[in-house]
Amino acid sequence: MRRTQVFFTPVQDNEPVESLAAKALRLAEAARLDRVIPKGRPCAVKQHFGEDKNTGYVKPPITRAIVDFVRKAGGDPFVTDTNTLYRGHRSQATDHLRQAADHGFTLESLGAPVIIADGLQGADQVAVPISGGKHFKEVRIASALHQAAGAVVLTHVKGHCQMGLGGAIKNVGMGCAARAGKLAQHYGGAPRFDARKCVGCGVCVRWCPTEAITLAPRKDGERPLARLTPEKCIGCGECLALCPSDAVGFNWDIGDLELGERVCEHVLGFAAAKPAGIAYVNFITDVTKNCDCVGSKQKAERPNVGILASTDIIAVDQATADISRRAYGHDVWAQWWPKSRYEEAIAYGESLGLGTRAYTLTEIT
Ligand code: SF4
Ligand code: SF4
Repeated sequence: MRRTQVFFTPVQDNEPVESLAAKALRLAEAARLDRVIPKGRPCAVKQHFGEDKNTGYVKPPITRAIVDFVRKAGGDPFVTDTNTLYRGHRSQATDHLRQAADHGFTLESLGAPVIIADGLQGADQVAVPISGGKHFKEVRIASALHQAAGAVVLTHVKGHCQMGLGGAIKNVGMGCAARAGKLAQHYGGAPRFDARKCVGCGVCVRWCPTEAITLAPRKDGERPLARLTPEKCIGCGECLALCPSDAVGFNWDIGDLELGERVCEHVLGFAAAKPAGIAYVNFITDVTKNCDCVGSKQKAERPNVGILASTDIIAVDQATADISRRAYGHDVWAQWWPKSRYEEAIAYGESLGLGTRAYTLTEIT
C-alpha cells in the first residue's frame, strides 16, 4: 500500500504566535513542501481571514513565515480566500479585503498581496471538468485559485456543523469554490423568494446573470415581488448574497455525507490545475466547536495539539483526525457534530484519487 508522509510538531497552549510561525516554517522545511512550489510563477497561500470578531484563523505572522518560505522556494506568493455564500463581512471583495486588513492581513504585514480569488461579487470563476464523481461533471473554482500555478493551504482545524471536522478538505473544497460552486455543494433546487420579506427593490433582478428573476405585481397592488423562471437559473447564488432583505432562500437540507462528497469533488477540480501538487499545513490550535465563519469570539474548547504538514490532503486530514483523537481520548468532532460523516467523506476523497489514508507520521520537535 502506498503511504504518504505527514510531518507533525506539537504545540502547547498559550504559545506565542511567533513560536507557531517558527514551528510552521520548520515543519514546511522538514516536509520539503518546496517541492510543490512553482518556480517563478504565482503561488496561492490559501487561508480563512476570519469573520468579524472571530479570532480562530491562522494569524498573519504565521502566514508571513509561509509567504517567505514560498518566495525562498522560487514561487511568487499571494494570499487569498473566496467570498462567502451568506451575507456577512466577507461576501464581496470590498468588505472582505477590509475585514482581512482589520485582522492584520495586508501587503505590508505579509510581504505579498491579498487577492480575493473569486472577484468583487464571487462570480469570477472557471468551470473545471472532473470525472469519477457522483454529483458533478464540472465544478466552479475561483479564478485566481484556479490560475495559480501552485498552492499552500493553511488550515485552522475546528469543528464544522456539517463537515464535522473542519480540516483541509473543507478549507479547499468549500473555500476554493466560487459562489456558484459553494451553492452547488449546499443545496438542491432553485431559490425561493419570501413574499413577507421581499420589498420589491429589484436588486436581484439587476444582478441575476441569466435574467431568471422578474418583478411581478402583487394581488394587493402594493410593491412588486421577485419571481423566478426556474429553467433559467444556473444556481450562481448572486440573488442570495445581494438581497438586502434576506428574502432569498434555498433548500439546504442535503445530507451531511452528500455535502462532504460534493466538497471532495470541488477539491478534485481545484487540484486538477496543480500537476506539481499542493502543500497543506493544518493547525490543531485554538480548537473551537464552530468554524471561523462565526461572527463572534469563540472559546477554545480543547487544548492545542500541534501542526501537521503534507502534500497529501487525505493523509493530512486523516492524521489530524487520528492525532486529535489520541490527544483528547475521544472523537471530539463526532461528539460535537454527531450527524456529520467526516470519516466517510475522507474515504470518498481517497476513492476519487485525492490522496491516501495510509500515512507515515514523522514528529519534529
Ligand atoms: S433583492 Fe430581495 S427584496 Fe429585492 S426584489 Fe430581490 S428578493 Fe425582493
Ligand atoms: S441563483 Fe443566480 S441565476 Fe439563479 S436566480 Fe439567483 S441570481 Fe439568478
